[in-house]
Amino acid sequence: MARYTTSVCRQCRREGAKLFLKGAKCYTKKCPVEKRPTPPGQHGIRRRKVSEYGVQLREKQKVRRVYQVLERQFKRYFESAESRPGVTGENLLRLLETRLDNVVFRAGFASSRPQARQMVGHGHFSVNGRSTNIPSYQLRPGDRVQVREGSRNVEAFRFARENLRSANVPEWLGVDATDMSATISALPRRDQMPLELNEQLVVEYYSR
Ligand code: SF4
Repeated sequence: MARYTTSVCRQCRREGAKLFLKGAKCYTKKCPVEKRPTPPGQHGIRRRKVSEYGVQLREKQKVRRVYQVLERQFKRYFESAESRPGVTGENLLRLLETRLDNVVFRAGFASSRPQARQMVGHGHFSVNGRSTNIPSYQLRPGDRVQVREGSRNVEAFRFARENLRSANVPEWLGVDATDMSATISALPRRDQMPLELNEQLVVEYYSR
């Protein structure tokens, strides 16, 4: 399974925004974006005029990094979004939001998307009763994601269970803290997906 191996905080500094990839640390003053809000590297502090293409490229990279998807897979998501009825940008975000690792994070079982991805990869979840370890598994309305019976005593899940009720769960997800499950009640609307992402710039980037 290909994955990012560079520092996640470096990715945030490159995008000039908090991407919330480190869990609890992201909400403290130790967050490098707050301490050093400049791009990483020797020339990071240099001021440069950014072209229209540069703006589109940065937004595409930001969306990709928020969901921790590599370039080739992200392009495939875009092509799939383009071939579906409806608005391409919204379709793209919807496909990313309904990935299994993102749903695990959104439901409050993990403190960040990278952690959710790792948990799924380690086989801690089942979908509709069947064990799966594929972070990109595409969920549909009615699907039920559950922490597997044998994994519920893992420290991270015990912590998650205590905090599930206070987790900021989106409306399109129904979370049951008792049996550690989350059900997709509907596909997310645009206003239920991250508003700080400008999917239109991503569409423009791929439409050049
Ligand atoms: Fe990004 Fe979190 Fe690191 Fe801050 S602490 S730079 S938000 S990953």
